[in-house]
Amino acid sequence: MAKSPEVKLAVFGRAGVGKSALVVRFLTRRFIWEYDPTLESTYRHQATIDDEVVTMEILDTAGQEDTQQKESHMRWGDGFVIVYDITDRGSFDEVAPLRGLLEEVKKPKNVPLVLVGNKADLEHARQVGTEEGERLAAEMACAFYECSACADEGGMVAEAFHELCRELRRR
Ligand code: GDP
Ligand code: MG
Repeated sequence: MAKSPEVKLAVFGRAGVGKSALVVRFLTRRFIWEYDPTLESTYRHQATIDDEVVTMEILDTAGQEDTQQKESHMRWGDGFVIVYDITDRGSFDEVAPLRGLLEEVKKPKNVPLVLVGNKADLEHARQVGTEEGERLAAEMACAFYECSACADEGGMVAEAFHELCRELRRR
């Protein structure tokens, strides 16, 4: 099996959208209900994606950083997961500005990115339509997944992270 270099992935999105829950789900296949919202952590993880061993370093940001801290996280990362909460319209409105800042920090490179609409289990409280997520992802030319960190039957969470790794490898 080919061994590839390490990739640095950073997870962005408003506080409370479920970034930590998604990262923990991806790493442990478990859901942890309460996770310190102010905590910022990095994790190392190895996965075999399309017969290739990929070592990831994953930065779970707190989502409360000032612009300067965000920029430094963006400089650190190779690829990015931007998360919003389908039950929180405001978190969706924060996606485009985050993408804008990413573009600015990374220019002239274009930025490997996936968009995740989390909390898909809370259909009754939905504020952001699936088509809206799809449209935004099309505008940003990136993959889009609706996920649930707590009810991840289809393995969608891992799929989002793996797709980001594939996107990085294609470059
Ligand atoms: P972060 O601030 O973005 O890291 O968000 P957390 O991972 O700390 O999650 C914030 C809150 O949302 C917690 O109470 C979680 O239990 C909850 N949460 C996270 N993901 C999901 C999900 O997919 N579905 C539901 N129903 N709740 C979630
Ligand atoms: Mg968190």
